[in-house]
Amino acid sequence: METKKFHQQEIKEAAAILREGGLVAFPSETVYGLGANATLADAVKKVFAVKGRPSDNPLIVHVENFEQVKQYVDNFHPLTSKIVEQFWPGPLTLIFKIKPGALPSVVSAGLSTVSFRMPNHPLTLELIKEVGQPLVGPSANTSGRPSPTQSQHVYHDLKGKIEGILEGGSTEIGVESTVLDLSDPIQPPMILRPGAVTKEVLEETLGVTVLVDQHLVEENQAPRSPGMKYKHYAPKTKVLMVQPTDWAEAFDWAKKQDLKVGVLASPELRAAYQAQMTASYPLVDESIASAAKGLFAGLRALDEEQVDLIFAPVFPEVGLGVAYMNRLKKSANQQFFKV
Ligand code: AMP
Ligand code: MG
Repeated sequence: METKKFHQQEIKEAAAILREGGLVAFPSETVYGLGANATLADAVKKVFAVKGRPSDNPLIVHVENFEQVKQYVDNFHPLTSKIVEQFWPGPLTLIFKIKPGALPSVVSAGLSTVSFRMPNHPLTLELIKEVGQPLVGPSANTSGRPSPTQSQHVYHDLKGKIEGILEGGSTEIGVESTVLDLSDPIQPPMILRPGAVTKEVLEETLGVTVLVDQHLVEENQAPRSPGMKYKHYAPKTKVLMVQPTDWAEAFDWAKKQDLKVGVLASPELRAAYQAQMTASYPLVDESIASAAKGLFAGLRALDEEQVDLIFAPVFPEVGLGVAYMNRLKKSANQQFFKV
């Protein structure tokens, strides 16, 4: 099949394909999603097939507004309206108990809960509205690979397997949404996956304690979110995480081992060590926001270079740094460069 690039003026055409059960990838503020009509079981099954996604890993349902969620859920957590008012549209996915049978069970991988998000991207909101149905939208990559932050990443992984891609440029945030469990109305909200909406911001805005799934704190705990147990975000090239104080030693060590390195590098780092990098992916500045935005694109770009190893910078695990380090540790198989 030919995978067509759609632009804004072709949204109606893309929407017609989705309505009839085809697959069209769409941009969002986090990463690109692989869209399918969430009300059609066969379309949703194709999503699992083309991604090679394990069938026990539930999908996020993307809606045009909160009203749309009410068709599928009738038992809301008391904090829901406050959360939706403050954070939607945005990088925050909410898990609710679903009305039995309201959506095909493949969507939620057989769970009694379903996750919903209203993405903050004008083209995609227009697309969902035009389809007239919510869309599932897991990251539009082959399972296990770094998530796509540009349409060409989607094309690289899924060309010939999906009907189209809605072009939306580079995604702004670069790591997937925060997943917040609101399925038990008498329990505090719980973060199952860290993202750009942080625990600190949620607590400050809501004035309540927000729990964090224990597996995110302790390595040996099983995650509550089925997808979090899988190996993820891995380029083919080995990745090592480098602490801010260890760059000089890391480059010395690589040179002694005769290893060619590709680096996810800030302007400062490039200025200091350019000569010791075989390839680099330029981060825009020193900030955690630019590291998060460039992480997946950088891993993909460096994977195409003739390098033996990728070095990526470690950031403190606060704010957006929690989400960045969560993804980076998986990409690096937990391996730090050790002095
Ligand atoms: P992706 O679509 O690739 O960004 O992955 C979606 C993430 O949300 C996965 O880690 C899923 O396990 C998680 N998720 C989606 N729905 C649920 C749910 N009902 N309960 C728990 N986790 C969920
Ligand atoms: Mg994914």
